[in-house]
Amino acid sequence: MDIALISAAYIVAALLFILSLAGLSKHETARDGNVLGMIGMGLALVATLWLALRGSSALNWLLIAVAMAIGAAIGIWRARIVEMTGMPELIAMLHSFVGAAAVLVGFNTYLATGSDGSGGSDGVHLVEIFLGVFIGAVTFTGSIVAFLKLSARISSKPLMLPARHWLNLAALVVSAALLVWFVASHSIVPLAVMTAIALAFGWHLVASIGGGDMPVVVSMLNSYSGWAAAAAGFMLGNDLLIVTGALVGSSGAYLSYIMCKAMNRSFVSVIAGGFGSDGAVSNTDVDYGDHRETNADEVADLLTHASSVVITPGYGMAVAQAQYPVADLTAKLRERGVDVRFGIHPVAGRLPGHMNVLLAEAKVPYDIVLEMDEINDDFPETDVVLVIGANDTVNPAAAEDPTSPIAGMPVLEVWNAKEVVVFKRSMNAGYAGVQNPLFFRDNSAMLFGDAKERVEDIIKAL
Ligand code: NDP
Repeated sequence: MDIALISAAYIVAALLFILSLAGLSKHETARDGNVLGMIGMGLALVATLWLALRGSSALNWLLIAVAMAIGAAIGIWRARIVEMTGMPELIAMLHSFVGAAAVLVGFNTYLATGSDGSGGSDGVHLVEIFLGVFIGAVTFTGSIVAFLKLSARISSKPLMLPARHWLNLAALVVSAALLVWFVASHSIVPLAVMTAIALAFGWHLVASIGGGDMPVVVSMLNSYSGWAAAAAGFMLGNDLLIVTGALVGSSGAYLSYIMCKAMNRSFVSVIAGGFGSDGAVSNTDVDYGDHRETNADEVADLLTHASSVVITPGYGMAVAQAQYPVADLTAKLRERGVDVRFGIHPVAGRLPGHMNVLLAEAKVPYDIVLEMDEINDDFPETDVVLVIGANDTVNPAAAEDPTSPIAGMPVLEVWNAKEVVVFKRSMNAGYAGVQNPLFFRDNSAMLFGDAKERVEDIIKAL
């Protein structure tokens, strides 16, 4: 395989990645999009291995093969055992690997090309190294904090250091000064000092973002990992890595923008690290009065007399793996002529598109799965809403209480329906740690217990 052939393989792989992204943007084509991405990655891997190892000794090939086999074995093992609820933290962890790789590539490139410039470390190349290491280090520690928060190993509450914005600004200004020193001196000292600052900066950026804003953080780190890969591509002079990194970086940035819009947050505020958060505290202690409890028989009766039903799933549906009985219940009600639809909040669950994936898995028809904006106006004409393991995404406090930590976030306005049944195990707050006044409304009833078991009970009672 000569260079021209490798370049051709790179172009085909880049096209496959673009087609893959296009496919992933719709339910119907997502599987094909995944397949195209896998073929593109396979092609990219073969071409890159050939480019890097042409004419190398058998030992080099063997070392790479062993490293790849170990990596593939760990990857396959993790992918097979991960629960759907564990996907967000797994993704955060994988982003941290990309960040760590960019830091290592940066230091390796610096050491390999010669610290005194004799090995060809011109100014532009040094800037590439510096930026690559900076983005990689921020991505690395930021993703680790995201992993710890998403897996509930540390609190999801925002870290509110005094003068935190000044700290962030100081980190950026000092890093810019270190860049000038690095390019002028070619010394490893400014590179090492900046790495330490960037590691702390990444940690602080994500630590100061509160639970409710985590969806933006996940997509933002996705974007950072793309830019880190693109930076590594510049350092290694690998065009495909630059293109692939830019695709991931820009699609992640676009996803962050969509998430910010969905949560009514300013993009700049969130990437500046909790800038929009004023430290508002949760309203768990507010007394909203009494809640009403119901049971499966009563809900079955309610559904028997309903002509329109909307189901709004949330993270609890993923925890309970209730999507299969929910799909059965939907089919049963539709057979009886009930108009059943789903309302999906953009940040429901713990992963962009989390609910859509679960419902697709359980074969719920795509045409009855609607976005929040498509369904919100229909709640006043809806007979029954089944809130299955959702909490923050149906919290009226977001719309009605300006002091709430989730104030301003658009939510599914389920309380406008005639009857609302909330499936959950207790009166505990949702991910953002905010109490939900919906549970205490006159038209709401709580159906306590595991969502899967309760939906199965309703199917039996129908
Ligand atoms: P929430 O996390 O707000 O609430 C989920 C509810 O499910 C809980 O109140 C819990 O109550 C209930 N639950 C848990 N397990 C079960 C079970 N087995 N059976 C029945 N109920 C159960 O969910 P939402 O989907 O409404 O909101 C998502 C939240 O996550 C938002 O705050 C969002 O910002 C955040 N987030 C979203 C991300 C994304 O990309 N989508 C990423 C990171 C965070 P109980 O314990 O009483 O059962």
